[in-house]
Amino acid sequence: MPFDLITIPCLSDNYAYLLRDHDSGKVALIDVPEAAPILAELKKRDWEVSQVWLTHHHPDHVQGLAEVLKEHDANVIGAKADEHRLPPLDRKVDEDDSITLGSLETRVIDVSGHTVGHIAFYVPTAKVAFTADSLMALGCGRLFEGTPDQMWESLQKLMALPEDTTICSGHEYTAANAKFALTVDPTNPDLISRSKDIDAARAKGEPTVPSKLSTELKTNPFLRAADPAIRATLGMPNATDAEVFTEIRARKDRF
Ligand code: ZN
Ligand code: FE
Repeated sequence: MPFDLITIPCLSDNYAYLLRDHDSGKVALIDVPEAAPILAELKKRDWEVSQVWLTHHHPDHVQGLAEVLKEHDANVIGAKADEHRLPPLDRKVDEDDSITLGSLETRVIDVSGHTVGHIAFYVPTAKVAFTADSLMALGCGRLFEGTPDQMWESLQKLMALPEDTTICSGHEYTAANAKFALTVDPTNPDLISRSKDIDAARAKGEPTVPSKLSTELKTNPFLRAADPAIRATLGMPNATDAEVFTEIRARKDRF
């Protein structure tokens, strides 16, 4: 199932993505923080966007849409639950709905927490998930609307995907996330070495996304509430995973 996956830096620290199915030549654009870099990438490759997939309503994920639609005749797809505050949608989707892009089938996953109505797009045959501000590289989105329990539930759905899934998240926050992660999981060798890799990549101006789910499972403290060493550091040996997650999220907010 050949496909192309392109990461496009936008604004100061956002990412948009292009997913192109080779069989049909159809292209999906995932999130639209800023039109100019996206239009430039499409022009360079001579690609037409046929679908836009929106993860959530925040301006830094949708504000470039109108300008992109002036040049590309694309179908806009977003969460039915967020219809009232997303740009006009051609298709409204719920959890478990599927989206067809040529030969690629995509499943919608509700990942509420950062916002209520945030969705992720999982493409099993490409082993890619677009998670925006839910699961992020070494982090998770801040809880603007949802509860910690809701975010924990959302993250568990993503944790259950195959470990070799490529996680395409919405922001370049990884270096700051690493500094925080080391405060709750200071002796984790995988985290220590990933943190060095991140600093090296950022020093060269390279993105630290996408990442592999397997890497997140080993290093992202927000997925590691069950880990005995993290629980010991937090002094929460007998708490539930949701309680440990809630504490980690609260500490990150204060960090
Ligand atoms: Zn957001
Ligand atoms: Fe964002």
